[in-house]
Amino acid sequence: MTTAETDPRRRVPRTDAVLADPRLVAAAERLGRDAVKQQVVAAQARARAGELAPEDVADAAVAALPRTLHSTAAVLNATGVVLHTNLGRAPLSGAAVAAVADAAGYADVEFDLATGRRARRGRGALEALAAAVPDAGGVLAVNNGAAALVLATTALAAGREVVISRGEMVEIGDGFRLPDLIASTGAVLREVGTTNRTTAADYAAALGPATGCILKVHPSNFRVEGFTSAASVAELASLGVPVVVDIGSGLLAPDPLLPEEPDAATALRAGADVVTASGDKLLGGPQAGLLLGRADVVERLRRHPLARALRVDKLTLAALEATLRGPVTPTWAALRADPDQLRARAAALATALAEGGVAAAVVASAGAVGGGGAPGLELPGWAVALPEDYAAALRTGRPAVVGRVERGRCLLDLRCVPADDDPWLLAAVRAAAAGAAPARDEG
Ligand SMILES: *Cc1c(COP(=O)(O)O)cnc(C)c1O
Repeated sequence: MTTAETDPRRRVPRTDAVLADPRLVAAAERLGRDAVKQQVVAAQARARAGELAPEDVADAAVAALPRTLHSTAAVLNATGVVLHTNLGRAPLSGAAVAAVADAAGYADVEFDLATGRRARRGRGALEALAAAVPDAGGVLAVNNGAAALVLATTALAAGREVVISRGEMVEIGDGFRLPDLIASTGAVLREVGTTNRTTAADYAAALGPATGCILKVHPSNFRVEGFTSAASVAELASLGVPVVVDIGSGLLAPDPLLPEEPDAATALRAGADVVTASGDKLLGGPQAGLLLGRADVVERLRRHPLARALRVDKLTLAALEATLRGPVTPTWAALRADPDQLRARAAALATALAEGGVAAAVVASAGAVGGGGAPGLELPGWAVALPEDYAAALRTGRPAVVGRVERGRCLLDLRCVPADDDPWLLAAVRAAAAGAAPARDEG
């Protein structure tokens, strides 16, 4: 038997009354009224269903509010893979993050504050890029490495031939193949040589009036070993047609840690007309495509109508400039993480976990460059090893932690986890132990 007074459904507070709760008023300013109202309506429905006391509706709505409006979650990368494409490749430096925040409102991206006139878009970033690669007579930034390649081949070879080695017809990931990308620009691919060997003479024999340019692509994400050879940039540059070199990784100058990675300065000195690269690989910056090369050729690319469609935004320009001018990037630091320090951090984490009854081992772990860079190069490091079923709980926890599942274990490689985040990692594992695998940890 129910009456108006005892039936909880009749005592469910009205939406406007709940929304007047000061906590929800504040939340509405942060998240927008619709997002807050959604939680209020859901809490009211639970109260009507008898799952919630009517006086708890406001509290329940507050508890259910999303922390943010965006669905992208920050992740602790415990995979040991420095440039993990699925995890957003390069993490931005603090300087780059600050630059993005400054550029987020109105900004002088295309305006000269001294004269009050229009100025060259992103000139600060382009000056920094030119300063970082003195061998480049001209520089340009577009949306990503693929865009840089499309712009270069379109401007130099649309309706004509792009001469490329069969050993460099690569797939860059997720089913995207460079030959398809280039064909989409209206250029015709002219394949020369074989998968394992291509000589300068092979290129020379293919050149003619239809040639637009030669394209040399760094086969970044795989290695061909054994009976192999490729023509050098210097040999190709002597053939008398424009040479575009896609180095992929974005190394601006040689790096002794990565002796097999091509770099922009070396390719330009060898005679490349244009070098294309990504901004968010080894350079450690935002997603961007860099074009570096002869002043007249880069100017031609800049003036091409397609350049406008590939234009880079102000946030990217700000992050790119700060990355180029700033201190070492998180990518640089992760690549050079000291194995002894990684081991000490892993040991400290394992000890702290053991105190909470979580059995974790400290194991050697080989990290990788990732992002299609330096395949086969193993970066010696250390990890905390947990039972495999921790992996799922850690991924769905807060902060989300992505480890590496290997031979029935969940490895948390510390290379790409900033040392300052170790307390968060510890808390995440403890939470996963409490929620996901409590029984296992006793044994
Ligand atoms: C990564 C890569 C690309 C694609 O660059 P994005 O920035 O991902 O568009 C093209 N070519 C090579 C050789 C690469 O390594």
